[in-house]
Amino acid sequence: MRIRVDPDKCQGHARCYGLAPDLFDVDDYGLSSVVGDGTVPPELEDKARLAIANCPEFAIEELAD
Ligand code: SF4
Repeated sequence: MRIRVDPDKCQGHARCYGLAPDLFDVDDYGLSSVVGDGTVPPELEDKARLAIANCPEFAIEELAD
């Protein structure tokens, strides 16, 4: 599984970081980006899906393989 944050949609609530701090970085404005290239280790896939479902801006996308 691989994810990305659409920087045009992200409004900086940092909710994703709160739910899955291993998968996201936030800048000083709370805007989010994925850690590394967005590859999600299998044990964190549930958290990634939780973050996707809880992003109020629908800014987190799962990338197709
Ligand atoms: S929850 Fe969504 S809008 Fe908020 S920081 Fe994360 S990606 Fe951006």
